[in-house]
Amino acid sequence: MKWFTFKRKRLSKVQKRSRQFLLRRGAWYLFGILLFYAPFAFFNRGLNWLLGNGTEGSIHDTCLRMPIADLFSGSGVDWLSTRGISFLLIVVSAFLIGPFFCGRFCALGAVSEYLSRLVPDKLKIDWVKFVNPTPIRYGFLAGFIIAPWLTGSLSCSYCGYSFFQGLLDGGFWGDFGVLGSTTILTAFLWFVVFGLFTKGGRGYCSFMCPVGAVQSFIHSFGATFGFTYKLKFNKNKCVSCKSCVKVCPMRALQKEDDHIKYNIHNCITCRQCTSSCPTNAITFGTGERGWQSNTVPSTSLKEKTSV
Ligand code: SF4
Ligand code: SF4
Repeated sequence: MKWFTFKRKRLSKVQKRSRQFLLRRGAWYLFGILLFYAPFAFFNRGLNWLLGNGTEGSIHDTCLRMPIADLFSGSGVDWLSTRGISFLLIVVSAFLIGPFFCGRFCALGAVSEYLSRLVPDKLKIDWVKFVNPTPIRYGFLAGFIIAPWLTGSLSCSYCGYSFFQGLLDGGFWGDFGVLGSTTILTAFLWFVVFGLFTKGGRGYCSFMCPVGAVQSFIHSFGATFGFTYKLKFNKNKCVSCKSCVKVCPMRALQKEDDHIKYNIHNCITCRQCTSSCPTNAITFGTGERGWQSNTVPSTSLKEKTSV
């Protein structure tokens, strides 16, 4: 009974911490809107100004899809442009700390994630139960890269950033004639099917975002180095409460037998799991490669769970 009371107290404290973390993450995403989306777009405007391109800015200046397509189609990337520098920053940060852009700045993914919390779980589909997102994610990326060679660029088709910019700057309001078929399809997939009615609310991020897929791929490579940040799991500390599995918006964590299975290729390093773990079995820090660290004391990791 004593243990039960202790456990309840401990869990409610952890739930509070997890909620606070969720709110803090929400604040980061709002900051992301200020940085990248018109009418604010402070990052884009600042970079444009530094490069002598004026002071206007919108999400299109820092489009992260075009450089991916340009790089692989052979048309070349202008690295000393707002777009080129933004893409380089994404690549370097993904290598060092994982898909930080997705986990903190990308309001597009956050909108569907946060709003999906309003929909009861029983109405949502947990896609990972039926399909492994990784091959689809990378398969979509491959299709995105190959498309310019075969038909035409997919950069602007199904672009969630562009759609979100349209919502913010009023591009759609009052003139629904500007909504093309791909725009409607993007909204339907991003917001409805893979958003509101998907467990975690990030089906679009999991399956269809080439920018997220590139970052995850780079992170999976970066995580093999000791000096980069990555998630670590200490099996000896885990009490199998499954809190981390429940809160993971990307469904990158799954309970399997007596351990937690982690899919680095679908993780956005948002660290919601670290905030919800009552025993700090999951940490985020530098250290040796590999998810499982039960043979290594977690104090050997430079832990970082608060941001
Ligand atoms: S595994 Fe953790 S850090 Fe990765 S997406 Fe899930 S909650 Fe976020
Ligand atoms: S890692 Fe932490 S949150 Fe996840 S099941 Fe184990 S104790 Fe619970």
